[in-house]
Amino acid sequence: MSAIDDIKNQIDIVDVVSENVNLRRTGKNFIGFCPFHSNTRTPSFVVFPDSGTWRCFGQCSEGGDVFSYVMKRDGCDFQTALEILAKKAGVELTPYTHDETPKEEKKRLYDLMEEAVNYFHNNLTQHPAGKNALTFLTEKRGLKPETIEKFRLGYALASWDALTQHLTAKGYTRQELIDTGVVSEQRDDKGEVIPNGRIYDRFRNRVMIPINDSRGNPIAFGARILDPKDSPKFLNSPQTVLFDKGRTLFALNEARPAIREQDQVVLVEGYMDVIVLHQEGFANTVCPMGTALTDFQAKQLTRQTKHIVLALDGDAAGYHAAVKDIDIIREATAGENPGDSQALLRQENRLNVDIRVVTIPEGLDPDEVVLENPDAWRSIVENAKPIVIHMMETLAKDRDLNDAKTKSEIAAKVMPLIREVSNAIERETYRQQLARFLDIDESLLTYSNMGAAQGNQAKRPFPAKPKLKTSADSLVFDPRDSFFNKENEILRCLYRYYENPGSLAVIDRTLRKFRLEAISPADFNQTALHEIAAVYFRALDQDEELDTREYVEKNMPASVQDVFLSLKNKKADSQSETQELDEEILRSLAFMRQEKCEYDKSEIQTLLEGSEPDSEEIRNFEEMLDKTLERRRRLDILIDTINTLDFKNGK
Ligand SMILES: [Zn+2]
Repeated sequence: MSAIDDIKNQIDIVDVVSENVNLRRTGKNFIGFCPFHSNTRTPSFVVFPDSGTWRCFGQCSEGGDVFSYVMKRDGCDFQTALEILAKKAGVELTPYTHDETPKEEKKRLYDLMEEAVNYFHNNLTQHPAGKNALTFLTEKRGLKPETIEKFRLGYALASWDALTQHLTAKGYTRQELIDTGVVSEQRDDKGEVIPNGRIYDRFRNRVMIPINDSRGNPIAFGARILDPKDSPKFLNSPQTVLFDKGRTLFALNEARPAIREQDQVVLVEGYMDVIVLHQEGFANTVCPMGTALTDFQAKQLTRQTKHIVLALDGDAAGYHAAVKDIDIIREATAGENPGDSQALLRQENRLNVDIRVVTIPEGLDPDEVVLENPDAWRSIVENAKPIVIHMMETLAKDRDLNDAKTKSEIAAKVMPLIREVSNAIERETYRQQLARFLDIDESLLTYSNMGAAQGNQAKRPFPAKPKLKTSADSLVFDPRDSFFNKENEILRCLYRYYENPGSLAVIDRTLRKFRLEAISPADFNQTALHEIAAVYFRALDQDEELDTREYVEKNMPASVQDVFLSLKNKKADSQSETQELDEEILRSLAFMRQEKCEYDKSEIQTLLEGSEPDSEEIRNFEEMLDKTLERRRRLDILIDTINTLDFKNGK
């Protein structure tokens, strides 16, 4: 995770822009007067919280992310913008060093964890002492042998030093054992660690569940008791260099393909639930560590899908328990205070996600439900309700809905929630539903009852993404990825032209043939990528007669070094030959530009609707819309051509 990603996760672009621009909401986005050109009457400046970007559809016709916004606003360079925003986000910027040692040390820690996973797994499946644990998992919890293999479950012997001995014999140091949290250190009476005191195995006589990072490397353990007298029931690894529980979701790596395929993720509460659900074919399931879902984890998920289902244990029934048990907002506490639910909704709006809630039948856990009957689980998830509806039903549970006092009490609690819904159509639907639900006249639930209602500003639902005309596997990125990841992949592939920069000319020539702009830094809206691309394109044009690679290495600004490194070091998904890569990059670029056109189009249409007839602005917007549609048309032709002709022979 680079500091840049960290900052983007912490900072809401709407907050930053709001510092000097008055924004108002239009559907999912915000508009205001552009601070970078003198305005007349119509606001033309749009902020997209979804992608964390902004764009002026007026005179400037420019856009970018939060960094480029601050750069332009304050007239500063990227490094300065980075410092300003890091301070705001509370992110510490570590100066970039070429020293590779820490990486090597970290790699040893990963190896140590891998060794520990194997050791525990071996105990469970081969060691006589693991028999009990194995029986517990297969007979009591319904796990199949292949599930135990897949999740590499294990068993920690009832010993104080079995793992310590094993890892020490493999050459790992005391400090490395401490750093990965597999051992505990001896403490004195006051609970202080005794320097150079004894160390002992942290996990004893427990079922071991490896916790992986989002790429599948083991970084921690969840450990469950076998002996009911032991406590706590679950014990996690402590925070370590490798493991940050607020940034980890259990089984995310395993669940990712299913989440994307089904465009939905289901969040449950326990590791065992996740494991059993995966086993039974519901692989789009993950769980946070412990109870609280953090902002960061929510972001991690929303990069995969915008549809999140929270599955709550039946014994913690009810909406308020939902807030308590799967607490999307850090530090939000449960209780009768509707502030909790409002905070939850604000979170939903900010992340632009569709959060739905299901309640598991009382007294059961998801793993029990699915083992009993997979269809029951399927129908529970299918019946997930939007949070407002869930709230309504939960508040009404076991109450007399004929009682006028009950009615007004429920209305008073649900109305503030409805007010928070950003989409006008959705908001109106909820209002009608509430009226029907309480069997009262709709007119009683007026917007004035809803306090400072935002009015009917929201225009249209966000457009569906353009239909992909081409097969997904000939793109260098996953078509459902965010713009950021798409830009990232394209840039990463461009780097493979180091050896053969001539290929880039082939792409450019094709683009020009279709009267489209050559590939340039402008294709990269994310400032860090924009900066990196700029250096790369300068390298191709330079007069210093340096090798492209040499020039890039020499001129890459320190502020983007970490992003650049991850770009360079990331393993390529496709091993395409350069020739195929030409086509893939061209196709991917065209697809991404087309998608951006589609977003632009819908925003300009929204702006048009809000403009005064016959004004200069409306003519500007119309002109802009024409240009966007024309651009879109050319991209369509290009993509059709790539698909129908033999591109390689055509060039
Ligand atoms: Zn402007």
